[in-house]
Amino acid sequence: MAAACLWPALGAPRRPGGPPLPEGAALLERDLHATAERLGPDGRGWVRLFAPLVREHEALLEDILRPLPRVPRHPLLLARFGLRGLPSAAWIAQTQFRTPQARALWAGLAAHTTLPLSTPGTAAMTLVLGLLAHAVGWPFPAGGAQALADALAAYLRHLGGEVLTGVTVRGPADLPPARVTLVDSSPRVLLDVLGERAPARYRAALEGFRYGPGIQKFDYALSGPVPWADPQVARAATVHVGGPAADIAAAEAVVALRIPARPYVLTAQHTLFDPSRAPAGQHTFWAYTHIPNGSAGDAQAVVEAQLERFAPGFGGRVLACTRTTAAQLQAFSPVFQGGDVNGGRGDLWGLLARPVLSPTPYRTPVKGVYLCSSATPPGGGIHGMAGHHAALAALKDEFGLQEVP
Ligand SMILES: Cc1cc2nc3c(=O)[nH]c(=O)nc-3n(C[C@H](O)[C@H](O)[C@H](O)COP(=O)(O)OP(=O)(O)OC[C@H]3O[C@@H](n4cnc5c(N)ncnc54)[C@H](O)[C@@H]3O)c2cc1C
Repeated sequence: MAAACLWPALGAPRRPGGPPLPEGAALLERDLHATAERLGPDGRGWVRLFAPLVREHEALLEDILRPLPRVPRHPLLLARFGLRGLPSAAWIAQTQFRTPQARALWAGLAAHTTLPLSTPGTAAMTLVLGLLAHAVGWPFPAGGAQALADALAAYLRHLGGEVLTGVTVRGPADLPPARVTLVDSSPRVLLDVLGERAPARYRAALEGFRYGPGIQKFDYALSGPVPWADPQVARAATVHVGGPAADIAAAEAVVALRIPARPYVLTAQHTLFDPSRAPAGQHTFWAYTHIPNGSAGDAQAVVEAQLERFAPGFGGRVLACTRTTAAQLQAFSPVFQGGDVNGGRGDLWGLLARPVLSPTPYRTPVKGVYLCSSATPPGGGIHGMAGHHAALAALKDEFGLQEVP
């Protein structure tokens, strides 16, 4: 995967994220101390919060990128993380920071959870996103995200595997006989695959699985780069557009119910760092915003009003735009039920019981069938860890392999 990654190949954007503010952008530098320098009186607090996590990130990630109901490998470290991560992101913002820049930077990270920022436990994912930005950066594949799927498929074929596309699995009859089946889909699809074989209690747990808000996405072709009012924003590949922390919090507080008038918009401007993705001089740019799960409402006007607010003249650069609705996302991948790209709610219970409370939630009651999608720990994201842990469980149960190199 690293070979396909822009990070070492083409040089990285120096700032993984930066929410534009009316006063100017708050920028998340790869370097922790460089970030702190720009945060004025909150610089020391930013370092105090992140430095211990960044320093021990490898050990910490070992414990948090797997099911939580397990004996931790690094209990003290996990406990320290837990103390900071159990509160809400809003509480951390209020108690740790006082500048609008630091609060907005923090809120922009926190809004990835698609939960109200006052939800207990939202500080945990905020910390993880921040520590990853400082420890390893937020890389993206050269040439586009398809490069990642191509690389994985090529490796599977190299090992003798076969990839079938264009086939929708709706039940057990759609699957070939196999000793082990790993289902990379939503709990709803797993229910269909298990059919009558699912015991009533397990069936009820999957039926009650809670999805989070969805997203609506806009892919733009632009005649030039986004004309950010603050030119510093052109140095960030990922840009959280939402304004001050209070605006971001207000938007995320209502997205489960309606499309906010001033939404939080998550954007990426990859062609600034990877010109291979667009014709010379032109740019790609995508933006998505959170919407109620399954909503068919059109968010384009409010999203573009936000973009114009922070990048006056944005509309004049748009050559074409494709809108992807929640229903289209779900059709693209049934994992994204109602447009939920996190594979289920990420509140405390959603993190603990994913989809059921178990140290090995990948295992289903049906022998040989495993769930390995983002509806299992550690949840959404391009990390591959759910598949990794599900494969380890299958290797142990079905092939007697305890330790896999
Ligand atoms: C626009 C967008 C931007 C994102 N940006 C980021 C980001 O920058 N960083 C990040 O870490 N994460 C990001 N994510 C989230 C990330 O993509 C998901 O959390 C992750 O892909 C979930 O992995 P998964 O294996 O559960 O599902 P998927 O990646 O969707 O894989 C499941 C696969 O199985 C197939 N499938 C499922 N059910 C069936 C069925 N019944 N029959 C046949 N095939 C089926 C699907 O078509 C799909 O190919 C983003 C998501 C979106 C939509």
